[in-house]
Amino acid sequence: MSLAVPSSTEFPTLSREGLVYLDTAATSQTVRPALEAMDRYYETYRASIHRGIYAIATEATDAYELARERVARFTHSTVGETVFTKNATEAINRVAYSWGRANVGPDDLVVISQMEHHANIVPWQLLGCRLAYIPMGDDGVLDLDAYDALLEQSPKLVAVAHVSNVVGTINPVAEITRRAHAAGAVVLVDGAQAAPHLVIDVQDLDCDFYVLSSHKMFGPTGTGVLYGRKNLLEAMPPYQGGGDMIANVTFEKTLYNQVPYKFEAGTPNIAGVAGFGAAIDYLSSIDRQAALAHEDDVLAYATARVREIPGSRIIGEARHKTGVLSFLIEGVHPHDAGTILDQQGIAVRTGQHCAQPVMDKFCIPATIRASLGIYNTRQDIDALVQGLQKVREVFA
Ligand code: PMP
Repeated sequence: MSLAVPSSTEFPTLSREGLVYLDTAATSQTVRPALEAMDRYYETYRASIHRGIYAIATEATDAYELARERVARFTHSTVGETVFTKNATEAINRVAYSWGRANVGPDDLVVISQMEHHANIVPWQLLGCRLAYIPMGDDGVLDLDAYDALLEQSPKLVAVAHVSNVVGTINPVAEITRRAHAAGAVVLVDGAQAAPHLVIDVQDLDCDFYVLSSHKMFGPTGTGVLYGRKNLLEAMPPYQGGGDMIANVTFEKTLYNQVPYKFEAGTPNIAGVAGFGAAIDYLSSIDRQAALAHEDDVLAYATARVREIPGSRIIGEARHKTGVLSFLIEGVHPHDAGTILDQQGIAVRTGQHCAQPVMDKFCIPATIRASLGIYNTRQDIDALVQGLQKVREVFA
């Protein structure tokens, strides 16, 4: 099965002269229908949602709620379980502050993994509980025997990335969830890097929370999602108070709105959500299997080409990977490589990728990370490899 690679007409930024964009794991480019949906909101029906009874307010509410329906379909959940946030980070923090404060005490254990983004480490430290991590091997694969040993300590929560933003590993989150549930733990899956590549089915995974970020899924910045199992969301106290999250307010007492609105205090990012809805619609309209096969092909090609470069070292060699290739070139600091690549129009990320424990694990200060979206091609990888030759020449 093949996928017609999306053109720069569909992703306007990609028509920028000389740009080779290989940083989709940081943020993807925006698909045109998402841009148009945001413009439509601002140009034709800008109004607040849920309150106004006039025509454009109803249109705004409909667009916002339609986006929620699209997200719910995308994750195989329901609208009542789909909470809009500003990004994946905020979604994790909501769980930490709301579910965490009600259910996790200072002596309780939260289990994460060694390959987590800081967004799935720091909120648990702020919560003030005990924290332990599932170690990974040198190949970037989680050690599930060590995980079983941690489960014997009866953690309250297991919080793991579906896909690592540094080593690219696709973690076996359905199996991780099955074992966590058998040990009585609740499971949060950080899907920030998975959603642009994989089909997301929270029923299948059977997780309790799943988080997404629109800006990694070809939608705008400033919008994310917290999926939560309905009974958990209903039992959780609100995270913030204000308008829209209430059913009735007096000076003595406030009754909260039903979920998901209980968790959406204040005027949300209406334009962003409308744009996100359009991006989800786009993602749902393409052949995802073909898109993944295309990305896998480009990743395999990139891995083989980078491996051929003398002095290269790939960080993360899991068999199940998607979208991300982290590596080093001997004798060259990743930041220097990134600067020379930038001079050739090649945008890669260099640094610790908000995952310092991964750097510590491999005893390295940083990596060069090339990450892929559905629009990348083998030609982009050829440009990267050519750029890396230049890097080597400079540092020879
Ligand atoms: N988790 C992972 C695995 C990520 O890669 C990122 C973004 N780099 C985040 C969480 C946080 O996403 P956001 O910045 O959109 O909140």
